[in-house]
Amino acid sequence: MKAEIHPNYPEIAVTCSCGNKFETRSTYGKALAIDVCNECHPFYTGKQKTLDTGGRVQKFADRFATFGVGKKA
Ligand SMILES: [Zn+2]
Repeated sequence: MKAEIHPNYPEIAVTCSCGNKFETRSTYGKALAIDVCNECHPFYTGKQKTLDTGGRVQKFADRFATFGVGKKA
């Protein structure tokens, strides 16, 4: 390798929000926290998941619970 032209490419620890941890290399150079990884992403798990942040899905369901009720055909 040629000296002085290559960036620092150390091993870093990556932690996912699902609890999965793995090691990789990156020029980022420090530990990384990610939201989704291959252990929990629906593409890899084959399972659909609803990300209900702060009860927003429930809020929507509550607001439109009566939508169309009492409407005459
Ligand atoms: Zn994950």
